[in-house]
Amino acid sequence: MTATRHRPGARAKPGPAGQLGAGWRPPPWPGAKRAFHAAIRSGQGTPPTSGRPATNRGAQATGPDARRPPEAGRPSAPRGGPGPEPRPVLSVVRCATYDPGPLAAAIDRLLEPFGGFDALVRPGLTVFLKPNLLSAKGPGSAAVTHPAVLEAVAAGCRHRGARVVIGDSPPLTMKRIEDFWEKTGYREVADRTGSTLLALEQEASREIVLDGPRGPLPVRITDWYWRAGLVINLAKLKSHNLTVLTGAVKNHFGLVPGMAKAQMHLRLPRAADFGAMIADLAAAVPMHLHLLDGITGMDGEGPAGGRPIPTGCLLAARDPVTVDLGMGAIAGVDPDDQPVLRRCRAKGFGPPGLEAVEVRGVPLADLRFAGFRAPAVPLLYRVPEPLFRVLRRFVWARPVLVPGRCIRCGACARVCASRAVRLAEGPGIRFRYGRCISCFCCMEVCPQEAIVMQSSPLVGLALRLREWRRWWKGRKP
Ligand code: SF4
Ligand code: SF4
Repeated sequence: MTATRHRPGARAKPGPAGQLGAGWRPPPWPGAKRAFHAAIRSGQGTPPTSGRPATNRGAQATGPDARRPPEAGRPSAPRGGPGPEPRPVLSVVRCATYDPGPLAAAIDRLLEPFGGFDALVRPGLTVFLKPNLLSAKGPGSAAVTHPAVLEAVAAGCRHRGARVVIGDSPPLTMKRIEDFWEKTGYREVADRTGSTLLALEQEASREIVLDGPRGPLPVRITDWYWRAGLVINLAKLKSHNLTVLTGAVKNHFGLVPGMAKAQMHLRLPRAADFGAMIADLAAAVPMHLHLLDGITGMDGEGPAGGRPIPTGCLLAARDPVTVDLGMGAIAGVDPDDQPVLRRCRAKGFGPPGLEAVEVRGVPLADLRFAGFRAPAVPLLYRVPEPLFRVLRRFVWARPVLVPGRCIRCGACARVCASRAVRLAEGPGIRFRYGRCISCFCCMEVCPQEAIVMQSSPLVGLALRLREWRRWWKGRKP
């Protein structure tokens, strides 16, 4: 299969799957990658710059070998925690602008607790940046990691001699991945920084098996996860109709290429199970560093059609759970209300709460966004399953079409794993609610924001009560 990539100064150019090209060079000495990652994970600052390391001891458990390809049919090495940090560090900086100068300075401050770019990046290293490229929408929509954040990190790596690849697998790209790159501004970022854009669904992948909430669950992961020497998660602060919030842990889902993601919704329709799968995935394929773009966040009907909000911050940590705990504090959403974090806590992945985290920089209370609107749907999934069946008539949420907006592109019908959407004879589309599992993938992919969520009056009432409770808690000193 040919791969669609975009190299600077060129239109997407096919090349052999799974290869960067002639310019790629291995790290300068054998074992360099292992020593390097051991150094950054242990917080000991810059690893040796030349010659062989004195010892690789300690690197076995926490270096890139922790991401060694799994044996077929077995899980990759789940980390089960934030690595060797005695107390996970959450770096928090205030930043209200995407202007390149102040943003680059803010990112430098953000990475200080981890030794900065100099400790993270070395010449010859391949760095894989994993942004949130959910939609083919402009950065003003807050649906994607802002291209300015992507550019600042890519430039920081490139200036230190690293080779940078940027990749994600949006839920429904088909042949439109170039649209995504154009509309989000990622193509310009790649051109300016000399990075390579990858369409992960067209790259090689390999299978791992997760624990899974309902038993072993095979998933395919892009090969680039193992090919790169450093993997940086560039997540976005957003609400999510299924998981309440989507940040660093959920952003691992983009490592699963193509339509397999939609099938996962069908296999695990309940938010608790779906969130548990996301947590298991993040534990199985840990990335090295997690950075959250919270300069402009999103609330309401996220992750694609919500309201952009000025949350004014950047967060970073070595594990995704620490970042998401900080994000929850800013949004005022309890970890117990988030299926992903509930599973992380139950499995001992990451710190159990912010009390176990060392926050460096701006106190999270100063960044609390009091008017954050969390989505209603996950409330449904707090209801125990037998009761849920009984209450189904009164407790529901479903997608509906906004009249006059649909252009009949068919994206919603293609992404719906339940086959609950069909193009109607006349204008617009029709939903078959008997088949709908309320995953809201159709909302995510609609380029016209023609699909919105409708909930039952009982869910609406519960939502208002919850908002009132959150508002009341937020008022307390
Ligand atoms: S109609 Fe939309 S919400 Fe319902 S199952 Fe299909 S994609 Fe999911
Ligand atoms: S509802 Fe949106 S995604 Fe579905 S066909 Fe219409 S425009 Fe396309």
